[in-house]
Amino acid sequence: MAYDSNNIFARILRGEIPCRKVHEDEYSLAFHDINPQAPVHILVIPKGAYESFNDFAATASDAEMAGLVRAVGKVAAMAGVAEDGWRLLSNVGENGHQEVPHLHIHIFGGRPLGAMIARQP
Ligand code: AMP
Repeated sequence: MAYDSNNIFARILRGEIPCRKVHEDEYSLAFHDINPQAPVHILVIPKGAYESFNDFAATASDAEMAGLVRAVGKVAAMAGVAEDGWRLLSNVGENGHQEVPHLHIHIFGGRPLGAMIARQP
């Protein structure tokens, strides 16, 4: 599927929509999730036009990949969750329940986060 350049995170990257910025560098932008699911809930996104982890893993440059991974680690440390523990998560596609079609890494922390995913009934 072609990248939708009007998705909400693309618009944040272009400065058309505000965000509560936590960190920015050459390759990434991090900002607070608008509907936090934990005391710390930050999104880290690549600046490049990648829909999900699928196309990012397949086509991003090594520098873009390193930039995103380093930003995630830096933001976790900046948010004060590195010591107590935290979770990173990226939803991909329909079964992954991805809502915004621009790759984003969720950082959750600030409380015990429970089981990894909801258990089957
Ligand atoms: P996902 O289901 O992984 O695609 O998650 C999308 C996330 O983006 C959700 O946690 C939303 O709360 C968050 N979100 C949507 N719009 C905004 C926005 N304008 N600023 C910050 N976070 C947003």
